[in-house]
Amino acid sequence: MRTTCLTLLFFVIGIAVYSQHNILIKNVNVWDGTSDKLDKNLSVLIKDNLIIKVGKSISEPNGATVIDGAGKTLIPGLSDAHVHLSATMGNGETRNEAHWMYTSIRTAKAAENFLMLGFTTVRDLGGPVFGIKRAIDEGLTIGPRIYPSGAYISQTSGHGDMRSANEPSVQLSGGQMTTSDAALGWAFVVDGVPEVLKAARENLRKGATQLKVMAGGGIASDFDPIHSVQFTTEELEAAVQAAADWDTYVAVHIYEPKGAIRALNAGVKCLDHGHLLDEETVKLIKEKDAWLVPQAFWTETPASFWVPGEDTIPEALNKKIKPVLEGTDTVFKLAKKYGINVGFGSDAYGDLGYESYALTEFTTRAKWYSPLEILKQATSGNARLFSLSGKINPYTEGKLGVIKVGAYADLLIYDGNPLDDIEVVAHPEKTLKLIMKDGKIYKNEL
Ligand SMILES: [Zn+2]
Repeated sequence: MRTTCLTLLFFVIGIAVYSQHNILIKNVNVWDGTSDKLDKNLSVLIKDNLIIKVGKSISEPNGATVIDGAGKTLIPGLSDAHVHLSATMGNGETRNEAHWMYTSIRTAKAAENFLMLGFTTVRDLGGPVFGIKRAIDEGLTIGPRIYPSGAYISQTSGHGDMRSANEPSVQLSGGQMTTSDAALGWAFVVDGVPEVLKAARENLRKGATQLKVMAGGGIASDFDPIHSVQFTTEELEAAVQAAADWDTYVAVHIYEPKGAIRALNAGVKCLDHGHLLDEETVKLIKEKDAWLVPQAFWTETPASFWVPGEDTIPEALNKKIKPVLEGTDTVFKLAKKYGINVGFGSDAYGDLGYESYALTEFTTRAKWYSPLEILKQATSGNARLFSLSGKINPYTEGKLGVIKVGAYADLLIYDGNPLDDIEVVAHPEKTLKLIMKDGKIYKNEL
């Protein structure tokens, strides 16, 4: 008994000491996430999970762990505004074949992979991730901070309606959201204002920080042409109202102008993809101070990204992908021309290991943006987007996406200067020497 008490006492003291812990990183060139240049030869002092000092000479607190940055580059942790952590397999397999526990463990692995690439925060744009978010926040497993959307909200025949051809509609067969999709939290297939409200509120109840609504045709779904406009104005307004009542916002999946304009006018704050948008729509995004999260790297992905394990893309699928990819150049040029809010979001999912495609987004975006602009998008820019979750933002103890006093200690140290060469970020196995999230070190090769 005495031994147990002593062990417990030491354990408690151990936690107390740890929670007071300081880490001093010396001799680093710092990019703070917002400025246009590196600040040479600085030190950064971290207490617990926050940055408490940044400066030329910081005296070493008693008992602090000191890390010599050896003149390397320290930047804020990266973020990805469009991931699907739980979608690590083909759609049919996750829906109908794999056990949920197996899927969960793969999700944990995907989360770990994102963190080890340098992503300390992600916005998950659909799929069951409430459990993994909690497990990461509690320290049970490792991964980025997660802004979860929960289940996709899709109309019947919309981009989130992944039923096979003969699978009956839940609603028409008299059921109530009891398919594996709804039960496990993949999608709510709903029609009409009351059902949209119910799905929106169900997600908010479970902890969604924003809602993901399918507003137009998609590539991975079989029954909705890309040009299709999904949900009526009233249905979209209902989702926006439910989100606003929780002080948050709606992000929609959309490629075409018609659906995008309808969504923006209904109060949607973020358009994801948008590869086929035109000038009028991009101007409207600007006018509404809304966001666009497009993907450039898709233009360079092999067939196996679209159809895991395959060397070629089936003709029917190719018909959907091709025009979308062809729009990429136009939409990035328009986004740049009008200076709209552009988030950094890869939509890299489909298999374990595909997380690294999120890094390809850095190099492909370099066709339109400078390394500095891309890095701002992936740090302080995304943090502004995430903060649209208002009073239900789960991460408000510190600032995200910056290296400043009072910010979360989410930071990376690279060998090389990513402001000069964006490739530095794209090859973390060679260049990324230190990963810290929430004051904890996950990789240290210094
Ligand atoms: Zn997506």
